[in-house]
Amino acid sequence: MAKYDRVYNFSAGPSTLPVEVLEKCRDQMMNYEGTGESVMEMSHRSAEFKKIIEDAEQNLRDLMNIPDNYYVLFLQGGGTLQFSMVPINLLTKSKKADYIVTGNWGKKAYQEACKFGDIRCVASSEDDNFSYIPKVTPEDIRDDVDYVYICWNNTVFGTHCNEMPNIGDHLLVADMSSCILSEEIDVSKFGLIYAGAQKNVAPAGVTIVIVRKDLVGHAPENTPIYLDYATHCKEGKVSMYNTPPCYSIYVAGEVFKYLKSIGGVAEMHRRDVEKAGKLYGYLDQSKLFKPSVAKEDRSLMNITFVTGDPELDKKFIAGAKERGMINLKGYRTVGGMRASTYNAMPMEGVEALVDYMKQFEDENK
Ligand SMILES: *Cc1c(COP(=O)(O)O)cnc(C)c1O
Repeated sequence: MAKYDRVYNFSAGPSTLPVEVLEKCRDQMMNYEGTGESVMEMSHRSAEFKKIIEDAEQNLRDLMNIPDNYYVLFLQGGGTLQFSMVPINLLTKSKKADYIVTGNWGKKAYQEACKFGDIRCVASSEDDNFSYIPKVTPEDIRDDVDYVYICWNNTVFGTHCNEMPNIGDHLLVADMSSCILSEEIDVSKFGLIYAGAQKNVAPAGVTIVIVRKDLVGHAPENTPIYLDYATHCKEGKVSMYNTPPCYSIYVAGEVFKYLKSIGGVAEMHRRDVEKAGKLYGYLDQSKLFKPSVAKEDRSLMNITFVTGDPELDKKFIAGAKERGMINLKGYRTVGGMRASTYNAMPMEGVEALVDYMKQFEDENK
């Protein structure tokens, strides 16, 4: 990345974006397609912005094969607001939901949902510091729940659901904040998927919600207007009830175009597997660095590892920074290191990291 003197940013989020997209945003910054203004300054009711948001939606639909009976929304409030919007909107019949707690974000979602109904934690891996994905069977789930909830990729711990949870016919809701667009997903198997953009899609500020149409419109009377999905689903005004996070939506749209240009999610996934494989391959034979989570539940996006010696971890992280590799410190409850290898992290970044790990291991035998 010599051209711009950029670092390899392994941050868990906000995180690195494709250079090609940043360059295009730069080129369009002062005068977007001859309008004489920046997208930052543009009326969200203008024809130009209408095209930006509609193209973004269509390109995301194409990339993820989103069926027509789902809305695609671009909302504010981050993943965190979805912790509340999901139960407010989906606890409509029994007001019961079962949560599979796979990490700290899932735990937060569970705690928030408890304010709105009869919520049960049906499985959790907290007993082992969330180092694996807990399994369930259909018998574990209460018959009449309105939905079952799971966080698909655990940003903090580095685990990922590598198979569909075994929940029978129940409606499934998933937080895909840190893995959206890194793997092909059958959207029709989910009632609702959401993802904050700042991990794998765009700058912070926009949250993608993909929700089955029949699930919208059943929120209680006294629901604050912004928190009712129905507010954002009006024909011709989707995601346009109030001012949407325009610039983040524009960048997300450019990322979608970029993904399409390289061959879509299948090609992105192939590259992500290759990148993560390089790092896990090294970890699996290293005598110094150890991966932190169960092998079968490994994430392609957040790769956690330790030396076992906190002082050595510190030294490693400081040395990485000197070499232009930043944000490798693990989350405070996990310690060690976390390398986030999101879509926009180039293979060269992972290679530079592995080269440094080899050197560090040699020097610290
Ligand atoms: C980052 C993250 C969140 C929280 O997102 P905010 O936008 O900060 O509210 C929720 N879930 C997952 C899986 C995350 O990675």
